[in-house]
Amino acid sequence: MQEKTKRDYYEVLGVSRNASQDEIKKIYRSLAMKYHPDRNPGDQDAEEAFKEAAEAYEALGDPTKRELYDTYGFAGLKGTDFRPFTSSDDIFSSFGDIFGDLFGFGRASRRGSDLRYMMELTFEEAARGIKKTIEIEKPAVCPSCQGGRAEKGTEPEICTQCRGQGQVMRKHGFLHISTSCPSCRGEGRIIRKPCKECRGTGQIRRKNDLDVDIPAGVESDAVLRMRGEGMPSPSGGPPGDLLIGIHVGEHEFFQRRGADLFMVLPISFVQAALGDSVEIPTLEGEEEMKIPAGTQPGAVLTMKGGGIQVGRQRGDLHARVDVKIPARLTAEQKEILRQFAATVGSSPKEKKWWKF
Ligand SMILES: [Zn+2]
Ligand SMILES: [Zn+2]
Repeated sequence: MQEKTKRDYYEVLGVSRNASQDEIKKIYRSLAMKYHPDRNPGDQDAEEAFKEAAEAYEALGDPTKRELYDTYGFAGLKGTDFRPFTSSDDIFSSFGDIFGDLFGFGRASRRGSDLRYMMELTFEEAARGIKKTIEIEKPAVCPSCQGGRAEKGTEPEICTQCRGQGQVMRKHGFLHISTSCPSCRGEGRIIRKPCKECRGTGQIRRKNDLDVDIPAGVESDAVLRMRGEGMPSPSGGPPGDLLIGIHVGEHEFFQRRGADLFMVLPISFVQAALGDSVEIPTLEGEEEMKIPAGTQPGAVLTMKGGGIQVGRQRGDLHARVDVKIPARLTAEQKEILRQFAATVGSSPKEKKWWKF
């Protein structure tokens, strides 16, 4: 089959690029209603349109993904949990809340449960974004017994007490009551030799490597959702999602607010008075920062674009000046400062500044 060229998501929904989130939601609901499979049974085109609209809404209905899409197009969504839907069931499990009140039914396909994973990132990793491979342990069908729970080469025996029915009749006075067979615990079969590999459970836990793209600028306590990477469904439905909780470590110098970085810049009182040019640490290495003459303690010097790249926005680096006053001076240095004080015209003892 030939790969179709993807239509622009705004075009799919038929909204302008500056449509509000509410507008997008409203339009999507009306399209979903129009092309809904229940209203268009057997109509392939309608089903395609239904999926296409859901994919567009998945991208534009979320402000963060929308911004990434606006900036980088389809490529921008690769690092996120964005994944086009493959089936209508998938769409229902994601947008259940929208459909719930639309059609008045909850098509609860028995989805696998979600898996949770905690990820520690260093400050730099979170700021720059990073690709990580994580190991996820998930249950899988035992390869030895193929889920049958009996040791390879053996077969479960049919229970003789219930003749494979799983139920036995008990007499209670005049009544015959059917109860679960005590011999096979209602299964109708007895496994004499349980599979050694899975200890008779039919499942093993298997470790899988999973590549995760952490987008640049992710913040502590963010949760990344990887659709379909959770537990398998117990009843043939779609699998659950993998939820990756992010914890970002502290940085030696930097603190972060959104895309902006903050740091304390210690300078000497001479540098503050005369001005200077100093090297400061940045996420990329070192950069030169100018200290203007006459810089006051607590002044904030800003390096434009020295912050974190979040989507299309690049933050700034703000350095708060901490003027260090020397605690120990040599006799010579004291003399120089006294001479300096004399040129200013007064000593602090004589000048009562609050009276002027
Ligand atoms: Zn087994
Ligand atoms: Zn039985």
